[in-house]
Amino acid sequence: IKPEDVCILGATGSIGTNTLDVIRRHPDKYQVFALTAHRNIEQLKLQCVEFKPKYAVLPEAELAQELQSFVEYKELDITVLHGVDSLDFVASHESVDTVMAAIVGAAGLLPTLAAAKAGKKVLLANKEALVMSGAIFMDAVKKHGATLLPIDSEHNAIFQCLPEHFVEKGIEECGIHNIVLTGSGGPFLKKTLAEFPAITPDEACAHPNWDMGRKISVDSATMMNKGLELIEACWLFDVKPEQIEVVLHPQSIIHSMVRYNDGSVLAQMGNPDMRTPIAHAMAFPDRVDAGVAPLDFMEISQLTFDRPSKERYPCLALASEAMKQGGNSPTRLNAANEVAVQAFLDEKLGFTQIAELIQQTLTSTEYAEVSTLESVLAADKEARERAQQLVEEMTA
Ligand code: NDP
Ligand code: MG
Repeated sequence: IKPEDVCILGATGSIGTNTLDVIRRHPDKYQVFALTAHRNIEQLKLQCVEFKPKYAVLPEAELAQELQSFVEYKELDITVLHGVDSLDFVASHESVDTVMAAIVGAAGLLPTLAAAKAGKKVLLANKEALVMSGAIFMDAVKKHGATLLPIDSEHNAIFQCLPEHFVEKGIEECGIHNIVLTGSGGPFLKKTLAEFPAITPDEACAHPNWDMGRKISVDSATMMNKGLELIEACWLFDVKPEQIEVVLHPQSIIHSMVRYNDGSVLAQMGNPDMRTPIAHAMAFPDRVDAGVAPLDFMEISQLTFDRPSKERYPCLALASEAMKQGGNSPTRLNAANEVAVQAFLDEKLGFTQIAELIQQTLTSTEYAEVSTLESVLAADKEARERAQQLVEEMTA
């Protein structure tokens, strides 16, 4: 059989490179059709040489020109494209079977949606796309017969713990009581609150268990990541925020659980390595080797659990509230968070100001229903502009 053609949106990132590592192990099963990146052209060049995709895409013309010269010099048969429309083009190309959606943030929304509308097998890492436009995205998946498989380790774990007929039957008919979303609590689980304002970007990006991009690392430290994941789970599994319980589990061995009415709790476990959920989704319903070390229970010795503190993680409540409000609130929350995290990484905002900025953006922008992509993009833009203004005010 012919190998599956894979398009990787965000190939140079943490998820992108882990995906390529899984592909590297199974050349008989997968081949790279397209790779996309943003600024990391050196990494993309290496990937082009190794994986020889049909297409390589960069949003910016100047970088694409540099890649074009490289491709010619190396005599590679690769078409180099630029511009955001080119992301949609490769994500929906008729030759593509599977799209790994691994661009970080709102920039990933349109190409991920293009893949869904083209009925592809969409492997979703880009949670921000779903948080921004949950209803519209899920409608597109259903309407165009796309297959949506979660890459986020928690959602992939939940998916693995659900019965096969879950999509047709839903949570009640499957006898499910609730979903237990686990989170490590990030690097500041033990830090005193008095130390929080002085936290630096490098400290926030040093996650104890996972090696990830800088944006999601900061989200993990504030636990906005768990908040975004709560919203993501509501859309993916058609549940309400009240049906999700967030539990701190510092070892990151149990990646999430499903609690059934008969008293059973199913958990998915593994070493914290994103190649496990990536390989699971790529091979589903089969299983392939992901190159991940086997779980050593004697080495782990204990698994512990705790309640997340509201004082330590205000972002979690902000996200849960936004989802309960519905409409454009999750879109505005996500936009404000992206601006706040960038300002924190640029050392314009302190760590505790991230939650403040999000809260203020939410209270000073308009709630509205969202029914079209245009209304989502408008809410995103308005909240981003307001958050940016607030950054200027807070730094002045
Ligand atoms: P990285 O920052 O490591 O990678 C992001 C990728 O997106 C890079 O390829 C980057 O290109 C590209 N990119 C960034 N901005 C743009 C843009 N404006 N237009 C086009 N491409 C862009 O992030 P991660 O891999 O950590 O995360 C990717 C997504 O997966 C996020 O949504 C995150 O929440 C989610 N996720 C990640 C996990 C992880 O373990 N890392 C776990 C669960 C979910 P370049 O490098 O060339 O600049
Ligand atoms: Mg996760």
